[in-house]
Amino acid sequence: MTAVPHAMSSFALHGIGVSRGIAIGRAQLVSHATLEVAHYTIPPSGVEAEIARFDTAVRETQQELASLHASMKAGDAPAEFGAFLDVHWMILSDPTLAEVPRRIVAEQRCNAEWALTQQMGVLVEQFDQIEDPYLRERKADVVQVVERVLKRLLGKPGPVGIPGAEAQTILVAHDLSPADVIQFKQHRFAAFITDLGGVTSHTAIVARSLNVPAVVATHNGRQLIRENELLIVDGSNNVVIVNPDRSVLAEYRLKQGELGLERAKLKRLKTKPAMTIDGDEVELSANIELPDDVPQTLESGANGIGLFRSEFLFLNREGLPTEDEQFEAYRDVVQGMGGRPVTIRTFDLGADKQKAGLDGLSRVAPNPALGLRAVRFCLAEPRLFLTQLRAILRASQYGNVRILIPMLATVAEIDQTLVMIEQAKDSLRDRGVAFNARVPVGGMIEVPAAVLAITAFLAKLDFLSIGTNDLIQYTLAIDRSDDAVSHLYDPLHPAVLKLISMAIVAANRAKVPIAVCGEMAGEVRLTRLLLGLGLRSFSMHPAHILAVKQRVLTTDAGALKAIALRMRRTDDPVRLAALLDKLNA
Ligand code: PEP
Ligand code: MG
Repeated sequence: MTAVPHAMSSFALHGIGVSRGIAIGRAQLVSHATLEVAHYTIPPSGVEAEIARFDTAVRETQQELASLHASMKAGDAPAEFGAFLDVHWMILSDPTLAEVPRRIVAEQRCNAEWALTQQMGVLVEQFDQIEDPYLRERKADVVQVVERVLKRLLGKPGPVGIPGAEAQTILVAHDLSPADVIQFKQHRFAAFITDLGGVTSHTAIVARSLNVPAVVATHNGRQLIRENELLIVDGSNNVVIVNPDRSVLAEYRLKQGELGLERAKLKRLKTKPAMTIDGDEVELSANIELPDDVPQTLESGANGIGLFRSEFLFLNREGLPTEDEQFEAYRDVVQGMGGRPVTIRTFDLGADKQKAGLDGLSRVAPNPALGLRAVRFCLAEPRLFLTQLRAILRASQYGNVRILIPMLATVAEIDQTLVMIEQAKDSLRDRGVAFNARVPVGGMIEVPAAVLAITAFLAKLDFLSIGTNDLIQYTLAIDRSDDAVSHLYDPLHPAVLKLISMAIVAANRAKVPIAVCGEMAGEVRLTRLLLGLGLRSFSMHPAHILAVKQRVLTTDAGALKAIALRMRRTDDPVRLAALLDKLNA
């Protein structure tokens, strides 16, 4: 997928553009909690605090290992697993890891991550000299332990992460977890490139919410691009140009200017209601990850929040948010939205959104996307779930709150969830706390089974929202975060279109409100198709709202129906593509 570079000459890398636009800037190679970390100098006055930061990370990692071990004893995990955790605990407690990096920080006045990885290099080299193959293999344990500590260090806000990043910096990383990316919200930079990642991986989704162009799946970009090289990132055309020559640079500057003008023009649509030419009102809501996203949502003119991915409150922090902390976050969003609907999705942890220290998640699942994720995890951890439900209910009296349950597949899951919501209400009543007893409860349609057996969903839930990112993943059996199969990720696959259409038709017939909140909702080339299938409610990243609104305003919905119907009925991808062109003509 990538071109072969010539020394210092210009070359292009191809990947998947996950966030549109053009950026021009200098490369900054970013590391995540693997083996390459940022290196920066600490002022003499900061050395003590840096050592304390290191000590805390070591201590917390020791606690993490100990609690993992304890939870393992309670369960039925194999004994070797406990022994393996003991080895890790011992490695971490040895002065070669727990003490030497402190000295390196003090002597070299460097950041803790750097000191730790320096020392890890020394240890790994020593292991390489060992004759005994078993002992030699233990170096992998050292690396894993160091990674655990690095994760702790990088997971904390502070001077770590991307020091020195600024508006003209382009971040180049091998791979980043969604939790890594969300931390970048605090920084300003021009664009984003990763070697790995699929178009609807949560990493890509969060990258999109940073509102800068991004290209993922460049395969070996991190290896080929050097620090400080000049880059053009063209998120709309899936390309990164390294060391562009003058004429290419000039051409892209021009395009960048044109895009800026287009964006400025779109802003005029902010307060205009989204209505088709033939008078159908369309709801355009926003997807958010954190309360800090509210100002951007308001700026986009969104009707409300169609998807608040609440699990991000659980990432990048020590332990779990308490009921009060969650309540405050939800209340802030609800009040910030001033009476507009706020759809809070109960936490969708698991798969690519892992949280250290949660027993159910910390085991290595053979197929995480098919494992204990989303509502399955919530139902397996009722205490956590009830805490969140109480927090949401408490926030419900401050505005217009709706609860959305992710990844439902069976009637039993719906029933159990509804029972838990009632339990949460009862416990608030017992405490004398006010809430909206009629808060609507909706379900995400993300698993083919949910569409094929939608009647129960329609009967038991107040609204539905189609999570096309997962619906596509589970229909086509392709891991959305695996770039090796990202070329198979196809929203226009006939099976996907049939499922989406079936869900919309069934919900419209039953008069149950239905939305699409997956990435398809923000793709302008698909707006008319979804309208033609009968959809009138879209939820997307706020940056896409105005472009989608523009498309709605220029669409005669009635005239689309016949073509959309033909699209739904055909199994021929070539014909589908031709019909889509016709819709968009
Ligand atoms: C989806 O699956 O389409 C969705 C909106 O949820 P998420 O992307 O968070 O899994
Ligand atoms: Mg989903």
